[in-house]
Amino acid sequence: MNVYDSARMADVLAPLGYGPADSAEDADMVILNTCHIREKAAEKVFSELGRLRKIQRARAEAGGRLVLAVAGCVAQAEGEEILRRAPFVDIVLGPQTYHRLPEMVAQAARAGGAVLDTEFPPEPKFDFLPEPRVEGTSAFLSVQEGCDKFCTFCVVPYTRGAEYSRPAAAVLAEARRLAEQGVREITLLGQNVNGWHGDEDWSLGRLIRALAEVEGVERIRYTTSHPRDMGDELIAVHAEVEKLMPFLHLPVQSGSDRILAAMNRGHDRAAYLRLAERLKRARPDLALSSDFIVGFPGETEADFADSMALVREVGFVQTYSFKYSSRPGTPAALMPDQVPEPEKERRLAELQGLLLEQTIAFNQSCVGREMRVLLDRPGRHAGQLVGRSPYMQPIHVKAAAHLQGQVVNLRITSVHPNSLEAVPA
Ligand code: SAH
Ligand code: SF4
Repeated sequence: MNVYDSARMADVLAPLGYGPADSAEDADMVILNTCHIREKAAEKVFSELGRLRKIQRARAEAGGRLVLAVAGCVAQAEGEEILRRAPFVDIVLGPQTYHRLPEMVAQAARAGGAVLDTEFPPEPKFDFLPEPRVEGTSAFLSVQEGCDKFCTFCVVPYTRGAEYSRPAAAVLAEARRLAEQGVREITLLGQNVNGWHGDEDWSLGRLIRALAEVEGVERIRYTTSHPRDMGDELIAVHAEVEKLMPFLHLPVQSGSDRILAAMNRGHDRAAYLRLAERLKRARPDLALSSDFIVGFPGETEADFADSMALVREVGFVQTYSFKYSSRPGTPAALMPDQVPEPEKERRLAELQGLLLEQTIAFNQSCVGREMRVLLDRPGRHAGQLVGRSPYMQPIHVKAAAHLQGQVVNLRITSVHPNSLEAVPA
């Protein structure tokens, strides 16, 4: 989501003459687009600001100016604190106000003092963003933002705000423009993307069917989805829409019913397993990835063992796993029995070890298989292209340059630590 937002900020600033710079030293303005989901990400902002301050000071001494802006969820949650700890910051803006960046930049140029805009404005920013500029054959399309689910560990409902769905017509128009510019793969984005409801009687399933009809669109993905919003229609779409990739990120967070309840996830372990089974029945080549949190307050060794067992049982081929990070203002931060850091670290290492084994086993099981691969960039060596499999694995193949940007049939021949090798099928 932040990658998407950063690209859109660049789009908004382009008419003012701004373009991407290679480094802060070369830039007239630096925008830190920040993440508040875990403490480590949030703290990084302040160390990065310290580094930028030095460049800003050197610039001022040379008679120039470096404008510093902090955007994103840290700005939303800690705007005042940023200005207190780093008074040299010129602009602080939340994730829902970046369509107003041109005004903020103008204001910062005029005023002494900082510009702060962390409102949740009544107007959706999407109505004010210019046409997205496209690079390459794969693009994100943000369709849903915010969250009303209030998992007890999570800051998203507070930083991104209430759940919002873009209207279907706007999403499809953006998809058409992307496809016209050469995009072949669209990833629909949202904090709870399968909670997208558009307007009238739309649903994510219906949107995916409509997207599959857009000329030029060959592959569709969506992320991140919540198990609670995985309805019958969406499962059916996995069976029926060939262009929907057989790879689904479906975060579960824990394999323990007790912890799932304390997290307020709204489903239990059995419900998740049923869902995984229905999805695999709908699309037999489907692979699942997930998110896990280890060391949630009160997580015992037995709860953790339930998570390990679930990883095996579902056969996740990839996951993102995190140590629980206490976030100010969330209910879990006040829960008793916080798990000690070394314990969290041990559990994380164990979980990641198991997941790595499963990823490697999955990659090896791909040898000999034929796959449709989107060749999206040149390789490091002449005569080589790199693409991505339906499962997001990087694929190297010897292929003519004119095939770049196309989806081709390849047969996987071998596995390297971070990629697969293939030949034309
Ligand atoms: N809406 C998605 C997740 C969005 S946040 C869902 O409900 O599944 C992305 C991931 O960050 C989460 O899946 C979770 O694993 C992790 N995360 C969120 N808050 C966290 C916290 N306080 N500590 C550690 N990990 C966290
Ligand atoms: Fe956070 Fe996802 Fe839970 Fe919403 S559903 S509160 S985004 S973890």
